[in-house]
Amino acid sequence: MKDNIIIIGFSATGKTVIAKMVAQRLGWKAVDMDDEIVHLTGKSIPQIFAQEGEQHFRKLETEVLKKACRQHNAVIATGGGAVISEENRSLMKKGGFIVCLEAQPETVFKRLKQDLLNSESKKRPLLAVESPLDRIEELKKLRQNLYSIADWTIHTDNLSLDEVVFEVVRGWQIIARKSVITENRNSFLVHSQIGDYPVILGNGIFKNAGKYLKKYGLSGRVFVISDDNVFSLYGDELLKNLETGGYPAIGLSVPPGETTKTLWKAIEIYDFLIENRVERNDIILALGGGMVGDLAGFTASTILRGIKFVQLPTSLLAMVDASIGGKVAINHGGGKNLIGSFYPPQIVLSDINTLQTLPRRELISGYSEAIKHAIIRDVGLFKLFEKHKQELLRIEPAIMTKVVKQSAAIKGEIVSQDERESGIRIFLNFGHTIAHAIEAATSYEGISHGEAVAIGMVGAARLSQSLGILQEFISDRIISLIQGFGLPVFCRGVNIEAVMSAMQLDKKTKGKETQWVLLQDIGKAVVRSGVPPDDVFSVLKSLILP
Ligand code: NAD
Repeated sequence: MKDNIIIIGFSATGKTVIAKMVAQRLGWKAVDMDDEIVHLTGKSIPQIFAQEGEQHFRKLETEVLKKACRQHNAVIATGGGAVISEENRSLMKKGGFIVCLEAQPETVFKRLKQDLLNSESKKRPLLAVESPLDRIEELKKLRQNLYSIADWTIHTDNLSLDEVVFEVVRGWQIIARKSVITENRNSFLVHSQIGDYPVILGNGIFKNAGKYLKKYGLSGRVFVISDDNVFSLYGDELLKNLETGGYPAIGLSVPPGETTKTLWKAIEIYDFLIENRVERNDIILALGGGMVGDLAGFTASTILRGIKFVQLPTSLLAMVDASIGGKVAINHGGGKNLIGSFYPPQIVLSDINTLQTLPRRELISGYSEAIKHAIIRDVGLFKLFEKHKQELLRIEPAIMTKVVKQSAAIKGEIVSQDERESGIRIFLNFGHTIAHAIEAATSYEGISHGEAVAIGMVGAARLSQSLGILQEFISDRIISLIQGFGLPVFCRGVNIEAVMSAMQLDKKTKGKETQWVLLQDIGKAVVRSGVPPDDVFSVLKSLILP
């Protein structure tokens, strides 16, 4: 399980400082092997080299590395020569995701020059020689092959420290994150262009909200924005917990429901913030479902040109979907979510306990998007839904946490790769082409978004089947899971023609063929355009009963 990051590389490539910065970014622990050896022996590195020789130093290095690799969530900075020992290399391979920081000999020389020209040079015993550049070249050549054990290599010559940190985290996300996601720990990281952010799940974690804000380096006053339903249940306690954690906090609650997600309500929130002398360093914390997250996020993104934003989602839909991906928006008379931007949160804290008070219909609706993630991306998660249906419907904490985390992590993985919706984020639209048309044809009344998506997913599975890309028994298995969670698989009394014309209108507005997200198998979504309207119509007839 790759839950440590091990930084290797030649001297002066920045291993120690980068390890510290990466650890801070991820909320992990930094371990510097040289420091550990000094701590263990009570001697400086040059002293060990002078008194006991290099071989003894290498032995100590292995001892310290063994201990470091047994940790979880540690960023380990190794010494420049740690890769020489075969035992060390195999410890590293098992112990974590290995990142090599590279630099040209000239860069190394330049960085070391200060050290080498003054007494500090003693800190680098292998380089304190007459012709350092030659020595650097020679040593680098000798070790170059050994550095190839790295999972990810970064050429640091022309990068700032922040850029190197970004590259380390990016590499870890791309290559090692899969195994982190499937781990039993309840957090993962979402990548975004303006900074990565953690999604942390657990039971009762709201109690520690202040601790998490501190852990991720947030300071300032906290403005909690919520809706009346959620605030009356969790608001006072959260404010108290934040105060106890050292964060002065005040709250504002708005009426629940989609009609609140307007510019007028955003203006009321601006008024509240300005009356309370909001400052650039303050934090807006959204406590509630997706409506609150979108509205509070929108105000956070615009007040004082943007202040820090933290999400505490309390509905299933918000935990697996709306709080992740950085989209914030308000509605306009002309349509939903028409005004908004991409404004990722600093942290997402999902307290699974809060789902106990979520109205049943909201819970079931939330399962629609949660199951969608499994259908498009992860047959293993799909099987978990099948196997633990009853426990999940009873919101049993352990399995609920596991499934919500895995489902949320799929959204996290997709938006990490395609933040601005120009590529694979389209897979998240599975079931949504029909869902949006049904919602438009019913003027968003009588049927919730989750329910419409459930029907839309049944339609997309049937369409995949009718186009010959999905086998019937798999389509049946998907429909049976959706139904098993109490979601509708058809609707009545909706005008099919109105649904067809909503789809046509959507196509015209976007100015291109409808891009259908279809399935080849569970976990294997594909995008198709040019789907014959006759096939669409007959699928709609099976979904919309008189
Ligand atoms: P919601 O926020 O309106 O919440 C649904 C209802 O549940 C509300 O009445 C709310 O008060 C109540 N509620 C929430 N948590 C509760 C709890 N723990 N206990 C008791 N009651 C609770 O709706 P939603 O389904 O969470 O989110 C829908 C919104 O999310 C829409 O506005 C949609 O546009 C948006 N959304 C945004 C994104 C995104 O990427 N930003 C993605 C999907 C949906």
